[in-house]
Order: sequence, then structure tokens, then C-alpha cells
Amino acid sequence: MARRTVFGMVPRLTLYRDAALADGSGPSLQKGMSVLVAGRRLMAMRPTSDEGILHPETHIIDAGGSTIVPGMVDAHSHVTLPGGSHWIDRGFDSPEALLDVAEHNGDLLGRAGVRWARDVGSPAAVDPRDGRKRALALRVRERWRDDPSRPRLRVAGTWIAHSGVLPTGLTIDADDGPGLLAAAAHQLDDGADLLKLYLDGPKKEEAPWSTETVRAVVDLAHGRGAKVTAHSGLLAGARVGIDAGVDSLEHGFELDSDAAAQMARQGTFLVSTLAIFRSWASFAQTTTLPRFVGDEGKERTARRRERAIESVQLAHRAGVRIATGTDFGGGSLRANHLAWEVEALVEAGLKPWEALASATIRGGELLDEPDAGQIFEGGQADFFLVHGDPLTDPTALWRVWRVAWLPETVGPAGPTTT
Ligand SMILES: [Zn+2]
Repeated sequence: MARRTVFGMVPRLTLYRDAALADGSGPSLQKGMSVLVAGRRLMAMRPTSDEGILHPETHIIDAGGSTIVPGMVDAHSHVTLPGGSHWIDRGFDSPEALLDVAEHNGDLLGRAGVRWARDVGSPAAVDPRDGRKRALALRVRERWRDDPSRPRLRVAGTWIAHSGVLPTGLTIDADDGPGLLAAAAHQLDDGADLLKLYLDGPKKEEAPWSTETVRAVVDLAHGRGAKVTAHSGLLAGARVGIDAGVDSLEHGFELDSDAAAQMARQGTFLVSTLAIFRSWASFAQTTTLPRFVGDEGKERTARRRERAIESVQLAHRAGVRIATGTDFGGGSLRANHLAWEVEALVEAGLKPWEALASATIRGGELLDEPDAGQIFEGGQADFFLVHGDPLTDPTALWRVWRVAWLPETVGPAGPTTT
């Protein structure tokens, strides 16, 4: 980046002129706004009628008709996995293949306006650099750290689950208290930003671990500056997670009103992933897999979808903070599908601006990252531009026109020498 000097060298200046602005903090769209960016910093955000005097080299983008939206936070993602109807099988692909998948996902995320991804589980593989086996997403986080066009990534390491719940070889198994604590400590030693406990057990009515056991893990993680989140598809596990003080529940497909009330009181986040059911319903048309195509499977999906929507409604009414994610990779969505989840939240009763807040501001709060999901003067120029008003119509988020943090030109850079 160019540096400011006494001779007037300044970072590249770009003005986005006459756009609307939807920052997710409230229901009203601000029209006629201009946003000035210097390098990667947002310098000014003000009415187009009040741009002031611009530097003569300012690159002006006529953004008329588009809407500026803060870069989104996909709060439930699996960056090393591709998703699709065979999503579970893909977890057993080679580490090299999965690292390539991560790069493709990084591309898809950016182009869809997703600035931050919270990875909640990746397969472990031997790192050839030191021979140690660790979660692949940690390597992706390192790769992306110094590349400003890549999503900013926070990583949970590998799933920690009771044996017999997820396919063998994908997770770190922990069947008792000491085993769970050891698995948690191992993930933290590897550099995980948060822990991901799988709180569905081998028996539907029972959580895999006791409240005391999970609380010990929460204390350990908090003591080391990390957070704990819990996969929760069933009510029994949700109760244990909430009582043990986990920071968030993923999915929360079977909450009841007591659970929701306690989450609101404690400040436990819910990370919704409702679009999974939309995706599965679409597979009834596009695949030949019996679990999606058969009547029994379709009914099961419809039932679970209804119950999951009810859970989100309970949480929303109780005042639980709802962040949101696609579950791409660990589920069947793809990395550029966060708009689908925002649509699903609106179907579940959130107002469109609230659903946008879930995909932006709430995600930033969940990550404890003050820049994530927000745009403000002096902050990062992390925004993208869509067509339509996402404060009234979530489908506007599919219509991405440009993304401020991605390079503008594609193809060879600079003059060719012939
Ligand atoms: Zn997941």
C-alpha cells in the first residue's frame, strides 16, 4: 500500500457515490450516501450532497441504485469442506484436496459478501511441517492471516464428540470427564480460538456428558481466553450446555421456552442454521438419495424444520441474541449461501433488518470482534454492495454487485512485456 509522505503520496482513494446504506442497526435505509475509502480504511460516510472537496486522484464509483451492506459474518461454517448432498463423505478426502477446497471456499465467501467466517470444526490431519496432527482449518487460518482479500477466520479446531455419534475418524472422541478435558486442552494447545463440543449423545434423551463435566471444560477454556460452543440438535444436550455456561449453542433445533429464557438471561448466543432444511428439501428434486427423495425422509425433514423454526421463534421472543451461519461443509449448503439463511430467519419471524443484524452485528458480538459486521468512519472498509433493500427484502443479499475488500480487476496485473 502506498504511504503518506510529504510529497502527497496517499493510499488509493475510492469514493462510492450515491448509494443507499443498510448497516443492520435499525429498520431504515439511508439513501443518497457517499463513502470514501483510503486503502483499506473507511474515511468518511456522509450524504452525497456533502462530500466536501475530494482529492483530485480519487477514484469515483457511481454506486447509484445499490445498497452498501457491512461484510457479513458466517458464524457457523466449515471452511475445509465443500458441502453438497455428499457432505459427510467429503470429510474423508485427502488433506491436500480439503486445503484446495478451503481456497475455493475463501473465494466464494468473499464474492458473497462474507468477511468473517467462524469455523466450527474441521478434520484433523498430519501437518507435514512438524508431523503433528491438528485441525486443518488452523492451517487455513495461517494461510489467510496475511491476505487481506481472504475471509477473516476464527477456528474451533476439530469436533469433540462422544464416540458412536459421528462417523469414526472425523472427530476427537471423549467418553468421560477426564477424556473431555484432555481433548479440550489439546485443541487449545494447538491454537484453537474456541472449542466445539458435540452435545448430542448416543442416546437421544441423554446428553453425552454431565453438566459438571462440561462446566469444567468451559472454565478451562475461559481461563485460557477461548470460548466454548456446543452443537445442539436435541433438547437434552441444550439443557446441559446452557446450565454449564457455554457461550453459544449451534443449531438449537429443539429449544423450549425455559431453555430460551435462560439463554437470554445468561447472554448465551444461538447460532441459527435453518437453511439446512431448505437445502435438504431441494435435494428431493435434485438427487437420487433415498433419505431426501423418499416420503419418509421428506416428512422427517419437514418435521425437523418446523421444530427448528419454532426454536428460533422461542429464542427470538425471549430476547436471545441470534447470530447465524450456513453450516456449509459440515452441512449441505455451499460457502456462498449465507443469504439463504437470512431468508430462513425472516421466515422464522425475524424482521428483515433483524435477520441482517444476525448475519452482521450479532456475528461480530459472538466473535468479540468490534470491527466484524459493522461499518463506521475510521473502521475497516469491509462492506459490499447489493441491489435491493435488504432491510425489507433478504433476497437482495443474493444480488451482490461488488465487494469493497476484493481486488477490482481480475486477470494479469500490470503491463505485459512483449
Ligand atoms: Zn456444523
